[in-house]
Amino acid sequence: MNILCCAACGLRLTEPVRRIDEMPEYPGWDGRPDAEGRRHGPASVPRGVYVVDPLPYGAPFEPCEDEDTYDGMVPGGMWMSDERGSLVSAGPCGTYVLHPLDVVDLGLHPDTSRLSGCCGLSPFDGVNRVCSCGAEVAIDASDCSGGYETRLVPDAVRVEPAP
Ligand SMILES: [Zn+2]
Ligand SMILES: [Zn+2]
Repeated sequence: MNILCCAACGLRLTEPVRRIDEMPEYPGWDGRPDAEGRRHGPASVPRGVYVVDPLPYGAPFEPCEDEDTYDGMVPGGMWMSDERGSLVSAGPCGTYVLHPLDVVDLGLHPDTSRLSGCCGLSPFDGVNRVCSCGAEVAIDASDCSGGYETRLVPDAVRVEPAP
């Protein structure tokens, strides 16, 4: 078991978690609110584990080179576009994907343009959670628009054996 800590101040950011090699199959989501009225759907990883995603994640986005072969923000991912055309993610690679409840309560990013989302936090505007030292450590997804997970940014955290 490991814990993930803030690389800047050393604060523990997660519960003890075990690394698994691949993203589990997504349990599926019907888009309807759950019993508590939350619309974000099931978490992408169960409690107690984390996955390292080798693909780039989230902002910034760049126009894709070839519209004809476009296959989402990452291959097989959600489609996104703006006035420049179809977009691909040029965000951080190797993010640590965790169940949001395995991550300690992090502060909101002071830049409110990072905090879009209608019923939760959207993960598409860059890092939206900060450590208590101010370091930009996590991309939280809890809106109906983009899954339910917390991603720790590899440059901002370090992995340590759980005590
Ligand atoms: Zn910190
Ligand atoms: Zn929403």
